[in-house]
Amino acid sequence: TPQPWEGILNLDYRQGPEMPFLTASNLTKICDFPESNFICFPYESRRTGIYIAGCVRKPMDMDETITDATGAALKAIQCMELESRGRAVHPRAMDLSYPEFLLIRCTQCKRCTIECPFSALEEDEKGTPLPNLFRCRRCGICMGACPERIIGFKDYSVDIISSMIKAINVPYEDEPKFRILCFACENDAIPALDMAGINRTIYDASIRVIPVRCLGSLNLVFISDSLARGMDGILLLGCVLGDDYQCHFVRGSELAQYRLSKVGETLQRLALEPERVHMEQVMITDYHKLPKMINEFIEKIKEIGPNPFKGF
Ligand code: SF4
Ligand code: SF4
Repeated sequence: TPQPWEGILNLDYRQGPEMPFLTASNLTKICDFPESNFICFPYESRRTGIYIAGCVRKPMDMDETITDATGAALKAIQCMELESRGRAVHPRAMDLSYPEFLLIRCTQCKRCTIECPFSALEEDEKGTPLPNLFRCRRCGICMGACPERIIGFKDYSVDIISSMIKAINVPYEDEPKFRILCFACENDAIPALDMAGINRTIYDASIRVIPVRCLGSLNLVFISDSLARGMDGILLLGCVLGDDYQCHFVRGSELAQYRLSKVGETLQRLALEPERVHMEQVMITDYHKLPKMINEFIEKIKEIGPNPFKGF
């Protein structure tokens, strides 16, 4: 059924001419509202530069609407200022990096253009990505999506993360120690780990943490590299997904979960247990739950035993 707002904005976006709408959120049972990160960036839409305020976002009274509109206007001013200086808007405000593509190796598979949550990648008739950097939020989801590993940033790339993995010390097979690698989203999981540290909570010391811009930027090659290096287990800490998602890049943790669902078969083919790779959803306020989450995962890995690839 056509919705009343259809045809008003008529935006030139690969993912359609309208704003993406929520349809089944707990917050929005009554009717559809433009989606936003309702906790951290309530005015923000998936269309960079378009902010939503007032009753199109959720039911609210006049006072709340005025506050909401003021917040959205300030965000729009910030967006114009940052974009005019070539910088990213929130949540990576001030970031000057942008995704670079080694297009000579592009197979035109369109995964990056389909998975970019902000429609920052259009494509030509053959399927080659055409970046529109004014829309880009620097999430790195395209980097995680690309099977050819030809997308990267100057300060964040497949090579950089692979070098970080290689730099982690893995105990030898005859040592009674395990090494667990954690990829943690910088938006919620890393602050939660910081909070856990500030509060002096104690968890198993076998874990090493690599921060990522978003779990959606996690290329599956990181998982295979880590297991080939001899890591006994891999824990992914990302934002809450689903209708009331908290991912700052909308679909990052959902995409990570989807990609992870494809990893199990590959692990079984390598005679590795799928349980060695596990994802948890974390909010900043969950810092007190982290030690239990980490310790339980490490206990499970200890029951499974060391990675048989250790030492090769
Ligand atoms: S970094 Fe994120 S927003 Fe930018 S092109 Fe890649 S997927 Fe799209
Ligand atoms: S995901 Fe990689 S290979 Fe596929 S279209 Fe994008 S850049 Fe090309």
